[in-house]
Amino acid sequence: MSTRWLDSYARQHDYLRISITDRCDLRCVYCMAEDMTFVPRAQILSFEEIERIARIFVSNGVRKIRLTGGEPLIRPDIISLCKKLKAIAGLEELVITTNGTHLAKLAAPLYAAGVQRINISLDTLKPERFAQITRVGKLEKTLEGIEAARHVGFSRLKLNTVVMRGYNHDEVLEITQFALARGLDISFIEEMPLGDVGRDRGLGFFSSDEIQALLANNYTLIQSTASTGGPSRYLQTAEFPNSRIGFISPHSHNFCSTCNRLRLTAEGRLLLCLGNEHSLDLRALVRSTLDDQAISQHIARALINKPQQHQFTTDGEVQVVRFMNATGG
Ligand code: SAM
Ligand code: SF4
Repeated sequence: MSTRWLDSYARQHDYLRISITDRCDLRCVYCMAEDMTFVPRAQILSFEEIERIARIFVSNGVRKIRLTGGEPLIRPDIISLCKKLKAIAGLEELVITTNGTHLAKLAAPLYAAGVQRINISLDTLKPERFAQITRVGKLEKTLEGIEAARHVGFSRLKLNTVVMRGYNHDEVLEITQFALARGLDISFIEEMPLGDVGRDRGLGFFSSDEIQALLANNYTLIQSTASTGGPSRYLQTAEFPNSRIGFISPHSHNFCSTCNRLRLTAEGRLLLCLGNEHSLDLRALVRSTLDDQAISQHIARALINKPQQHQFTTDGEVQVVRFMNATGG
């Protein structure tokens, strides 16, 4: 692997997350405010620009790309983008994070286009709660999407569940059972303080340790050696050995020392850290006369400024003004 994508803390970056749109058909209470202004379409990277940037990253050692958003599956013709990215020599993994509302129709074409794994967000199994947490969504659409994906052949499917006290913390066991019974992985996520979403996030904090304690009362938990190269720490259960239970715990178990990822926003800002604003305007570079090598050099220099870690706290303060839909998690 190339060693060019190193930051000042000797972290190697082999994983790029690309937000292909900041728009979404849902308005999850932890992700967005009720009223959102989205980036004008002309400012969004074109598929050709995304493909070029992806090639530059892969030629410098990136091996995994995740498409995210906003909701990536609402961008028209996403299948053609997946095919283009999949064709990049050297890319080992193309994966997607979605809310699942369009998966019923897109699961098969995504698989055929070469997408290997999908993460699907699911925070509740109760229809009225789903409508409350997503502000506008219908649970059955996401459940239909999960079913469709299960029958297509993806190597692994994972549920992502943001756990918030007072919203869904009492459903941890039920959602876990839903995942395990279907051979799905599941990751529980501590809510991160990105953007003013109009509620006090501090009141909703529910730690990964509390979740683990709940699970320990119901399953025989085993430490898993599995790693997807990300911030998740994994457990397995003796009862359902095919599934992994992950914890993404920005508050209770800082994972910054092993950070291997960079994020590209829909308007082409290369964000060096989810919890800080240090970034590089890649759209300006790809719309200039610079060649790929010159752009690579700009990225390598920017990486030197990657902060050591985020400074998230659970006191309910907004710490980063940007909302999560801008960067895709
Ligand atoms: N729309 C897709 C979805 O919901 O899966 C992809 C984009 S969404 C921003 C990516 C992931 O970020 C989702 O799993 C979502 O639950 C998570 N997320 C959004 N806002 C968050 C926050 N403030 N803290 C922690 N996770 C968050
Ligand atoms: Fe949309 Fe995903 Fe954000 Fe929910 S978490 S509002 S589905 S982008």
